[in-house]
Amino acid sequence: MHDRGPPFSAARAALSALRALAPGRRAAARQRVAEGGQTRHAEKVTRVAEQLRQRRGPEPVSLRKRAVSHMVPKRGDLRRSDPKIDISDFCEILEIDPIKKICVAEAGVTFVDLVAATLRHGLVPIVVPELKTITIGGAVSGCSIESMSFRYGGFHDTCLEYELITATGEVLVCTPENEHALIFQMVHGAFGTLGVLSRLTFRLIPAKPFVKLTYEKYPSIDAYMAAIAGRFARQDVDFMDGIIHASSECVLSLGEFVDEAPYTSSYDWYKIYYESTRERREDYMRAADYFFRYDRGVTNVRPRAPILRALLGWYLNSSRVLRLAERMNWLLRRDNPPVTLDVFVPLSKVPEFMRWYEREFGYFPLWCVPYRRVRDYEWIADRWYQGMKDQLFVDLAIYGMDKRDGRNYHRLMEEKLAEIGGIKTLISHNFYSEAEFWSLWNKPNYDAVKARTDPNNLFRDLYTKTCRAAQGLR
Ligand SMILES: Cc1cc2nc3c(=O)[nH]c(=O)nc-3n(C[C@H](O)[C@H](O)[C@H](O)COP(=O)(O)OP(=O)(O)OC[C@H]3O[C@@H](n4cnc5c(N)ncnc54)[C@H](O)[C@@H]3O)c2cc1C
Repeated sequence: MHDRGPPFSAARAALSALRALAPGRRAAARQRVAEGGQTRHAEKVTRVAEQLRQRRGPEPVSLRKRAVSHMVPKRGDLRRSDPKIDISDFCEILEIDPIKKICVAEAGVTFVDLVAATLRHGLVPIVVPELKTITIGGAVSGCSIESMSFRYGGFHDTCLEYELITATGEVLVCTPENEHALIFQMVHGAFGTLGVLSRLTFRLIPAKPFVKLTYEKYPSIDAYMAAIAGRFARQDVDFMDGIIHASSECVLSLGEFVDEAPYTSSYDWYKIYYESTRERREDYMRAADYFFRYDRGVTNVRPRAPILRALLGWYLNSSRVLRLAERMNWLLRRDNPPVTLDVFVPLSKVPEFMRWYEREFGYFPLWCVPYRRVRDYEWIADRWYQGMKDQLFVDLAIYGMDKRDGRNYHRLMEEKLAEIGGIKTLISHNFYSEAEFWSLWNKPNYDAVKARTDPNNLFRDLYTKTCRAAQGLR
């Protein structure tokens, strides 16, 4: 079980007590609970700001969170030996307002805890990354996608306000409208290089207890993309993602919230979710089980052998596997590590990209997540959007391709994406030159915010952190 810790238990006990009260007194009691949380939060923020103010010298720092990191584990990642800023107690849900459908929570709250708490009000976060212990702060600082992204974009696109502690210990409240609007936008995908996210305010939507899934099968990438485009235009389902088992066997998973289910499946032990999409035509899950259906691995489920799954399948969730990789970092391969990465490709370019991919990589299955172009993000270079007409991207994720033929597949992917106008997230191994990197990411915007929030480069800059330090390069 994920360790929820004392603040979460306290908040949960308070919420249970709240439910026992008469409706008229609930609002006042909710107010008192929120005020208690805000007081504790203010004390934590003061502590972290003070710790940052007292840092001396050029040594970069990293964060210590309670939940495991979901960056792809890399041999020798320098952040492992950095001095730490401890934010491990930023794990409290401060407020759920069921009327306004808004939640305020500390950055270290995990999605599994968040979904459990909001479902009690018949609500859920709008974008729920599929692994249980991804945190809301990590989802904004890294990158987050899932099966509601075809409608809403990333989790950050559902956020209304961030509280950010700068490297100099200033506490800024950033919204898309206030004087810190550029900071608000640039914090997404900055991988913690612009400050520490301490509190987030974000929207919720109504949920139902179950999700009904329908699996549509397509024999070609062209037909598959046409189906995705059609659903994107109609917006007639709640969830859309899919598995490309092979380019001739593509499954589109369409989900809708429902009040009742004739049966429910769960994929948290023996059965492997992505494989079920190949065999089944439909499925039903409890809403929380749906959100975390890939938690035992997306397409990289281990172990696979039936006997080992029966013995260990319940134990080896994504959190434990990543924690193990973190502890046994010295066992990871430095040269030609297995490829786990995800790329955003404009919908119109997917057929061309997939022909190339099949020839050069030839590795399946792929996870496929349609992602709406909600807005032209400030953190991407202006030229990247120039001439792009697509309103939908497709995020394609490779998990654990292991080819030892001496080719650098990460670099191969970077070059192809540059050619077709795609982009990859930075959670994996990155081989860009500095000039190339800043031709994709928006340097003027990044530098403007960096000068304000981390003038002495305490958190490293984005290029150094994701392309060099992550692979042990100084
Ligand atoms: C195997 C695997 C599967 C994945 N599957 C999915 C998926 O299904 N859906 C999805 O959306 N994503 C997925 N991801 C990507 C994941 O969402 C991102 O890597 C995300 O950033 C992880 O968040 P985290 O809470 O684990 O943060 P971490 O991994 O701990 O941190 C990510 C980055 O954000 C920074 N950071 C973290 N918290 C803060 C904070 N409070 N303030 C400032 N900076 C901070 C860290 O310094 C780090 O640079 C997957 C990644 C892996 C490796």
